[in-house]
Amino acid sequence: MSKIYPFGIDEVLRPGEQQGLTRAQACALIRCPEPELPGLLAAARQAKERFKPGVITYSRKVFIPLTNLCRDYCGYCIFRRDPGQPGAHTMTPEEVLAVARQGEKLGCTEALFSLGDKPELLFPEMRETLRRLGYQSTLQYLEAMCAMVLRETSLLPHPNPGLLSGEWVRRLAAVSPSMGLMLETTNASLLAPGAAHDHAPDKLPAKRLRTLEEAGKQQVPFTTGLLIGIGESPEDRVDTLLAIRELQQQYGHIQEVIVQNFRVKPGIPMHDRPEPTRGEMLRTVAVARLLLPEMNIQAPPNLSAPYYDDLLDAGINDWGGISPLTPDFINPEKPWPHVEQLQLRTQAKGQSLRQRLPVYPEFLAAVWSRPGLVAEKVRASADEDGCARRAA
Ligand code: SF4
Repeated sequence: MSKIYPFGIDEVLRPGEQQGLTRAQACALIRCPEPELPGLLAAARQAKERFKPGVITYSRKVFIPLTNLCRDYCGYCIFRRDPGQPGAHTMTPEEVLAVARQGEKLGCTEALFSLGDKPELLFPEMRETLRRLGYQSTLQYLEAMCAMVLRETSLLPHPNPGLLSGEWVRRLAAVSPSMGLMLETTNASLLAPGAAHDHAPDKLPAKRLRTLEEAGKQQVPFTTGLLIGIGESPEDRVDTLLAIRELQQQYGHIQEVIVQNFRVKPGIPMHDRPEPTRGEMLRTVAVARLLLPEMNIQAPPNLSAPYYDDLLDAGINDWGGISPLTPDFINPEKPWPHVEQLQLRTQAKGQSLRQRLPVYPEFLAAVWSRPGLVAEKVRASADEDGCARRAA
């Protein structure tokens, strides 16, 4: 099965070539009619097998929501709070360490730090909290908490801190092997009044691309991705994937591309917006695989439950972070599947499941060349294939 309308897979995917589809081809495929979908999926699956045959990875993690205060107001976000709102919380160092230690006991290797973007710029309450903790900014506090987890536990920190300057990329890279920032979309019109990124100044695509570029200049393994169903068009999705491809061609540091689908939650500003359909999600993942044939592509299983194994048909090679302990604070109403369930479903599709570290095997060399504790800890956590030593 190699024919995908209106192109043949061999025409667009030559083994060893990173180029992948052209924009015109991708735009045609991402809107392909239903009868053509099986062909598109077969091509994507074939491309995945050329890239990483027979294996799907995941990272066993604990989720550390360091602070849910945020200066942005994204229309789809249920995580963020203003000071004084029910549930508003900034974790203490003791709380951070307690979660990390529990995760360690459950065989986790990743401490995923999630937090709002620079809340102290908007809220005097956050400035006061930071002052009491002994820090001047959220990023300084994050840096200290990553250093503590790295020093005190076997977990590897993977922060998702929002926009970063070159200086902050450098500082956080000294305490974490990899980090992440979702590009989400290159469509800047989503910052218009009433759109998803209205009142979210940190979601300006140009600013996010700058952070990704800074990480590239410093060769820091970086996770990014797109968020679909927030008001962007299928062509915008292609353009976002192309922007990521360009970064990768220039710097080679994008270790993972997440395709995340918007899910409706009660109480969010976008509570009455439609979710992307299963067909839209599968088309986007498959086109991502064909545009980025030699990059790691991930989609979160909890956001496609109960039919998440369909994502394997669209060419993903990773399930992302799965926690045996902490809920998905970003999508709390969608629990993660048990690792055993994930394993069974993955095997049923002819793939074996392997536990990786937050930094992908092919990016370990970049981390090992850094001086200090990060390289040392990563070395201690990796097996001979670069996956997690304590495999599930
Ligand atoms: S998605 Fe991130 S940046 Fe946007 S409001 Fe939520 S926490 Fe803040």
